[in-house]
Amino acid sequence: MQILSGKEVAQHVYDTLTEEAEQFLEDFGYVPTLAVVLVGEDPASQSYVAGKKKACLSLGFGHKDYHLPADTSQEQLLDLIHQLNEDSSVHGILVQMPLPDGLDPDKVIQSISVEKDVDGFHPQSVGNLLIGNPGFVSCTPQGVMEILDYYHIATAGKHAVIVGRSNIVGKPMASLLVQKGRDATVTICHSKTKDLPSITRQADILIAAIGKPHFVTSDMVKEGTVVIDVGINRIEDASRKRGYRLVGDVDYDQVAPHCNAITPVPGGVGVMTIAMLMKNTMQAARQFANKEVK
Ligand code: NDP
Repeated sequence: MQILSGKEVAQHVYDTLTEEAEQFLEDFGYVPTLAVVLVGEDPASQSYVAGKKKACLSLGFGHKDYHLPADTSQEQLLDLIHQLNEDSSVHGILVQMPLPDGLDPDKVIQSISVEKDVDGFHPQSVGNLLIGNPGFVSCTPQGVMEILDYYHIATAGKHAVIVGRSNIVGKPMASLLVQKGRDATVTICHSKTKDLPSITRQADILIAAIGKPHFVTSDMVKEGTVVIDVGINRIEDASRKRGYRLVGDVDYDQVAPHCNAITPVPGGVGVMTIAMLMKNTMQAARQFANKEVK
C-alpha cells in the first residue's frame, strides 16, 4: 500500500513555482501578484487567508490583503472587486468564502474578471472546464489530479467514483476525470444515491468529498483500489492541546490495508489546494504578461 503524500507533491509544486517566479521577474520585471479579499471575522477564514499570504511570500509572489468589516455592503464589495479587475499590478483575485449573511456569493464570484479568477469558481471558468477549453480550474480537484500525476496513477479506462457533488470539489473533479486524455469512466454519488456501498465497491479510484468524518469504511471499497480523501473534519480530541484533531471522510485505519494507494489526512489533498492556487496565480500572471507583450 502506497501513501500518497500531498505534502511531497505540494513541495515539488512550490520548488517549480519558486524557479518560475524568479524567471518571470527576470523576464518581465514584476512578480505574479494575488489579491485576497476577506470580509468579516470568521476565524477559519482568517487562518485560510493567512495560509495564502504565507505561500505567496515564500514563493516571492506579490500579495495584497483586503480585510473588510462584516457589515460591508454588496456594492462596496463589488466596487473593490471592480478596482482589482482594473488594477494591472494584480493578476489573481480571491474572495474568501463563505461571505457574511447579506452578501450574495454568486454575484461576487461573477464580478471577478475571468482572467483573474484563480479560484476557478466563475461560471465561465466552470464552463470552460466542462467543454475542455483552457481556463482556471478549482484548486482542490486540480490538486487531486496533481497527486495522481505525480504518483503516475493512470486514470484512462478506470472507474472513478466520486462521493460528493459540490461545485467546488465533486463536480469539477468529475469534469477533470472525464476529459479526453484523462479518460476515466466517472460516477458521481450524493446523499440521495441508493445503496452507495454497492457503487463505491466498483471504484478503481474512489474520491471522497462528503464532509463526514470516517464515512467511508472498509466494506465500501474493493481490494486494491486507490482512495483519495478530500474530507477535512474536526473531531474532538482531549489529548490535543487545541482540543480537536483533523480527520478525513475515510476511516483511514480500516480502509488503508485494502488499498493500493491512499491519501492521508492531514498531509494529503488539503495541502494541495493552496499549492494549486499559487500555480493558478502564476498562470494568470503569465497570461497577463503575454497579452502585454503582444
Ligand atoms: P459540501 O457539503 O458542499 O458537499 C458534500 C457532498 O457530500 C454533497 O454533494 C452531499 O450530497 C454529499 N453527501 C453528504 N452526505 C452524504 C451521504 N450520506 N452519502 C452520500 N453523499 C453524501 O462539501 P464540499 O464539497 O465543500 O467539501 C467536502 C469535504 O471536503 C469537506 O470535508 C471539506 O472540508 C473538504 N474540503 C477540503 C478542501 C481542501 O482540501 N482544501 C477544500 C474543499 C473542501 P448532497 O449534494 O445530496 O447534499
